[in-house]
Amino acid sequence: MDLEIVTIGTELLLGFTLDRNAAEIAQTIAAAGIRVGRTTTVPDRGPEIQQAVREALERTGAVIATGGLGPTRDDVTKRAVAELFSLPLEVDTEYLHLLEERFAGLGRSPMPESNRTQAEVPRGAIVLPNRRGTAPGLWLEDARGVAVLLPGVPHEMRGLMRDEVLPRLSERIRREGPAIVTRSRTLRTTGITESGLASLLGDHEDQVAPVTVAYLPQGIGVDLRLTAWGLPEDEAAAALDSAVASLLPTLGPYVYGEGDVDLAEVVLGRLRTCGLTLSVAESCTGGMIGARITAIPGSSEVFAGGVICYTNDSKVRDLAIAEDLLQEHGAVSEAVVRAMVRGVVRRFATEAGVAVSGIAGPGGGTIEKPVGTVWLAARVGSAERAVRIQFPGGREWVRRRSAQAALNLLRRLATEPEQEPA
Ligand code: AMP
Ligand code: MG
Repeated sequence: MDLEIVTIGTELLLGFTLDRNAAEIAQTIAAAGIRVGRTTTVPDRGPEIQQAVREALERTGAVIATGGLGPTRDDVTKRAVAELFSLPLEVDTEYLHLLEERFAGLGRSPMPESNRTQAEVPRGAIVLPNRRGTAPGLWLEDARGVAVLLPGVPHEMRGLMRDEVLPRLSERIRREGPAIVTRSRTLRTTGITESGLASLLGDHEDQVAPVTVAYLPQGIGVDLRLTAWGLPEDEAAAALDSAVASLLPTLGPYVYGEGDVDLAEVVLGRLRTCGLTLSVAESCTGGMIGARITAIPGSSEVFAGGVICYTNDSKVRDLAIAEDLLQEHGAVSEAVVRAMVRGVVRRFATEAGVAVSGIAGPGGGTIEKPVGTVWLAARVGSAERAVRIQFPGGREWVRRRSAQAALNLLRRLATEPEQEPA
């Protein structure tokens, strides 16, 4: 089955709003085995909307449009498409009551007149109830094909796609013949560059055919997306399983997880399994590591707390680091990060810890320690490891990469402590 996407919104064409809906719908649709033939973006103007939807219907017989379903004057999608289908707008009394009840529930009675227009639907259209907002989705169909109208607000669009649109599209595909799907699995790597990964994989990439490998650099790591194209569901799953099994040994410790898992989640999971608690000492990352960790629900089982010791004074006062050590080696040094991690695990009485000290820039670099120089240290039980890394990029990237590398050092120490000397 082929389908086209039409995103509607003058703000999209002005570039103020990024067209995330088109990307998300395309991903969802491709996963369901439907091919997206084209995406068109048009302003909130009736004639352009009608032209885009009509042409999409002529080419593929199926179109999903988002945007312009709100209650205000600049939202004209519904009227324009109803006209294209030669259908009058009528109040859907059931939906009107639902809306009125919802407003009453929020203590906002009577409902504003502009919201009443949201209960007007093209005669005969299927109303797709929107639990996350006031504009319903609409499913219109005639001899030319199907037009699905969805609200522009991304989480409303997402909910309607999942709850209402995909099940209906899947049903159509089932009627059309045996289901063919496109499935992907993503392996997340960090601590290695895109080109480093490519040479590591070498012709392994060809060996996993027909599964394809895409390199997706994210700044703090590279995701490898493996895709099985146009196969029956069980064959796609099997092809992906065997591709993953064949690549994992080569990728080794660079892979920290799959899908959209965060490295902090992996580290926490590992420490929890081992029954270990964690504290952090952060200089140049200024709390980013703590933020990454506490973003994970349930982190309090593992994470005790941390110290942001930005100045030398703070390192001395809050982590009991000897002033001589700072004088002799400088704050960005192996001796000091090791002292930081020991100081923080002692202070918080945790078994595991991680510490970062680096030069994020733009100032502060020297010949020996240029901007981007970062020392990291991790401790897990009595095992300790420190590394120096030279990160590329401006201040923000150095900080983000430092936080990621710190978590990764901790992960590797917690996973393979015996492989490297403490
Ligand atoms: P609308 O349904 O056109 O009133 O859109 C409501 C809000 O959804 C807009 O203010 C945008 O922030 C957002 N939005 C609309 N279209 C898109 C799109 N294609 N991608 C991402 N956000 C969008
Ligand atoms: Mg709009």
